[in-house]
Amino acid sequence: MARKIQAIRGMNDILPGQSSVWQYLEKTVADVVKSYGYQQIRFPVVENTDLFKRGVGEATDIVEKEMYTFDDRNGESLTLRPEGTASCVRAADQAGLLYNQVQRLWYIGPMFRYERPQKGRYRQFHQIGVESFGMPSADADAELIILTARLWQQLGLIEQVELQLNTIGLASERETYKAALVEYLTTYKDDLDEDSQRRLTTNPLRILDSKDTKTQQVLEGAPNLEDFIGEESQAHFDRLQAMLTANGIAFVINRRLVRGLDYYGKTVFEWVTSHLGSQATICAGGRYDGLVEQLGGKSTPGVGFAMGVERLVLLLETLDLIPGAAKERTDIFIASFGDDAELTSSVLAETLRSHQQDWVVLRHCGGGNFKNQMKKADKSGAQFTLILGQEEVDKGLCQVKNMLTGEQQSCELADVAEYLESQFN
Ligand code: ATP
Ligand code: MG
Repeated sequence: MARKIQAIRGMNDILPGQSSVWQYLEKTVADVVKSYGYQQIRFPVVENTDLFKRGVGEATDIVEKEMYTFDDRNGESLTLRPEGTASCVRAADQAGLLYNQVQRLWYIGPMFRYERPQKGRYRQFHQIGVESFGMPSADADAELIILTARLWQQLGLIEQVELQLNTIGLASERETYKAALVEYLTTYKDDLDEDSQRRLTTNPLRILDSKDTKTQQVLEGAPNLEDFIGEESQAHFDRLQAMLTANGIAFVINRRLVRGLDYYGKTVFEWVTSHLGSQATICAGGRYDGLVEQLGGKSTPGVGFAMGVERLVLLLETLDLIPGAAKERTDIFIASFGDDAELTSSVLAETLRSHQQDWVVLRHCGGGNFKNQMKKADKSGAQFTLILGQEEVDKGLCQVKNMLTGEQQSCELADVAEYLESQFN
């Protein structure tokens, strides 16, 4: 036998049974974002490498070591998108959507990062992202967070997630802070973990994120970012908090929260859960007022977030929060015996599907004896099985078997749809 080819490590197939959960989640999100006036945008999975280098930032983990980058046949460097915001800005700006306008956009799709695969962390994963452009005030930040809270409410997750908030100020404020932080940390360089030592010169703010205990101890005495936040950033942050409080949304302020993407300024936030181990963040975002300009567009404020679909699916499964209606099911199974009965049953199946569009009607195809077909009917989980043989066809009937009670009765073919409808309700 030929050797089987396996999927790429960290890239998962989403199998039947799982896909219904994905569809449920996707539909719930699509309905919520729509109700806030967000419109879907779709952009390619491959972009010019420079888009991410300039957008996400050269010194970020993503650009430094996680991107799938390759040369196109013409020698141009391309990258499988590791995130959606940079592409969204590129696409919206290219279409002229960002010029002096408010835009509310969302997207869904696969992202690619070369990370160590583990539960909740994959090399191909999926994000649903929501971005709003043209609104500089904290209103817009609040709208996005309120929207996510509504989503958690609808998914039954609101009690299982915590909102963490921070402000990382303006670029100039961060620069002053970075200098103070580096000066302090350099004194303790030998006590820092390896990653943090490297970040001292490349991306010092990310050291605040370090999980290493020794580094954490050193950080206890470090200068605080909040002492470097200016009046404008603080007022923005205060206003955001007031909006959330007015809407009954609880949050904790996490002064150590910085994001792994360089474009953020002012607001950053994460929704975290205690049910997924160390891959705890299910949704993360913030404000990025400088990004559009940085990518060559006219200066336009922006704020957005992305949620990890795999982590959300895991969370819904872990907490058993998938509604019955979202699961795959069979309503009606049709067994038929003999050429005439097969013909009649194929027409009957169509009649039933026309009668009630959401009925799942499964027809046994390709013959088989009674025992065999009834086994399949059982296995399908159908509530009713319709049975047709030559005798039934001759009389214009079929047998209707209630699979729960085992009761069976005959029914005129012309009345089956109505009869089943009365039984289902
Ligand atoms: P993390 O700290 O977990 O690495 P991140 O800061 O890199 O996350 P973002 O780039 O902000 O994450 O992406 C937003 C969301 O996308 C994350 O909160 C997470 O839910 C999801 N996500 C990010 N990377 C992965 C991955 N490799 N596999 C699965 N989900 C991911
Ligand atoms: Mg990451």
